[in-house]
Amino acid sequence: CGIVGYIGLPEKTSQHSALDVLLEGLRRLEYRGYDSAGVATVAAGTVSTRKKSGKLANLLAEIEAAPMAEASVGIGHTRWATHGAPTDQNAHPHLADDGKLAVIHNGIIENFAQLKAKLVATGEEFSSQTDTEVAAKLIGQYFVGSAAGDLTEAMRLAASELEGAFTLLAVHADQPDRVVASRRNSPLVVGLGEGENFLGSDVSGFIDFTREAVELEQDQVVTITTDDVAIINFDGTPAEGKRFSVNWDAAA
Ligand code: GLU
Repeated sequence: CGIVGYIGLPEKTSQHSALDVLLEGLRRLEYRGYDSAGVATVAAGTVSTRKKSGKLANLLAEIEAAPMAEASVGIGHTRWATHGAPTDQNAHPHLADDGKLAVIHNGIIENFAQLKAKLVATGEEFSSQTDTEVAAKLIGQYFVGSAAGDLTEAMRLAASELEGAFTLLAVHADQPDRVVASRRNSPLVVGLGEGENFLGSDVSGFIDFTREAVELEQDQVVTITTDDVAIINFDGTPAEGKRFSVNWDAAA
């Protein structure tokens, strides 16, 4: 189970393709173990996803068969199934807000059943057995509701309601200039680049691209754009995270 996120400047030729960065990060995170893999990218106001049970090779074959548009923002996931069998349908990302919001998750959301019952009562339809899709729908409801189109605030409000262990990453078609993430009892590290920024479950997720990193602390939300990393606590107060440099050599 691993997580990666990327945002870079679309207009700069020196920047990487989001898909390349995500797939390289997922390859590096394979050592953590997984049963499914998936990615979501945002381009031209649309979120696109590809996801597949089995090895990363299956996801690569899927992308080869159905190529994705060039994108400079996206999220990638390897899943270790805890809620729902390791099927294509249960693989992440999970979608909400009419397919405009994509969410990936490592961990377990312990109060997902109560939350799911509430969301179903408001008319939400679920297409997987995962606890993760509950988080996706909750973020989606806040995005169109009290968070008023602010993905960071939607993430903060939703994450504050979730119990258990989670690292969550989200992208939204209406806010393509950012990737938003949160963590509780599950790891999350930001990789600092020039005109680009990264997220990973650990530094392996972006070690090929930067060695400057910030570790998120408990119950925090981070918003990365091409030139900024903004961290807040679940109560909305500003936070810092722990800055460090990676000093080990990554093997190929
Ligand atoms: N609980 C989630 C699921 O079963 C995430 C598992 C993981 O950490 O990969 O889909």
